[in-house]
Amino acid sequence: MTWERAVAENAWQLDDGLYRILLPLPWAVPFVNAFLVESRSQFALIDCGANWLPSLRALGRALKAIGVPARGLTSLVLTHRHPDHAGGAGSVQQRWGGRVLLHPLEWEQQRIEAADLEEWLRLHGVDEAIRVKPPGPPREPMEALPERIEPLSVDEPLVVGDLTLEIIHVPGHSPGQVMLREAQRGWLFTADHVLEPHAPNVWAFPGASGDPLGEYLDSLERTRDLAATLLLPGHGIPLRASPRDLTTAMIDFHRQFAERVRKALDGKQLTAWEIVKLTRREPPVEPSGARFALAEVLAALAYLTRRGQVSQTEEGYWRGAEGISEVSPGPLAHIRRDP
Ligand SMILES: [Zn+2]
Repeated sequence: MTWERAVAENAWQLDDGLYRILLPLPWAVPFVNAFLVESRSQFALIDCGANWLPSLRALGRALKAIGVPARGLTSLVLTHRHPDHAGGAGSVQQRWGGRVLLHPLEWEQQRIEAADLEEWLRLHGVDEAIRVKPPGPPREPMEALPERIEPLSVDEPLVVGDLTLEIIHVPGHSPGQVMLREAQRGWLFTADHVLEPHAPNVWAFPGASGDPLGEYLDSLERTRDLAATLLLPGHGIPLRASPRDLTTAMIDFHRQFAERVRKALDGKQLTAWEIVKLTRREPPVEPSGARFALAEVLAALAYLTRRGQVSQTEEGYWRGAEGISEVSPGPLAHIRRDP
């Protein structure tokens, strides 16, 4: 089916029983998608936006226009726990009902203490002028999760009336992120796993261990050939396509980013912040941008370290391994990165 019908100023019906709801965000990325799946008077909402009044109101108007009755949600599935996707879950459940489901790897939130953050920035060589900038004015909390959350499991599909949503675990952008697929209909809810035109970020923040970029690339390889005809991303416009081309573009983008980091270290010893400055056209000059950029380079460094291509020399310094042959870059196509 290739039609789309507006049902509210921020909601569109994409197929029988499938709606896209566009929600505003108070951040640099201005919008997030929520999706409503309906069958036999059961209603499942996939993601719900931030805990921010303009977004909660926009969601409420859309659900009413679609015809969801008061407290009529059957379930609210959170693809991952980033506040732009999940922050409003507590408020939405209070107003619209339903059980809230999230992968258990997302349950624990790593709260980073200010002192640890400052030490992490210092260790990795971030300029003092950026490090010590005072934070912006305090903002209302954009996340309020309900007290009771139920585990999403890959072994247990979510049944909504006649529809069956398969749960696919895709760690990388976050450890417990999931995609959902309705195989009969060809729907694939891709969350922040594959996006266009911005490649999802992969980060290693203070206290992170493991290899999030390696996990992300593995998740991409594993899901590249999934059978689907309608891609429903967390941000941006749904695509009537299989995941193959977009997934390939994500793999190329992130491999090339890792390769840029490796090349920056060719014959040199650098801090992660020096690598940020060498690999970005416009290195961030404010604390939050600096944190994200640093965490991204550290994810690439963890990936390269595991593959023997770079090593950490003394605390905070990195060096390229000798005699690494060049990795051939694939086509970058149109994939860009958030500024
Ligand atoms: Zn996210």
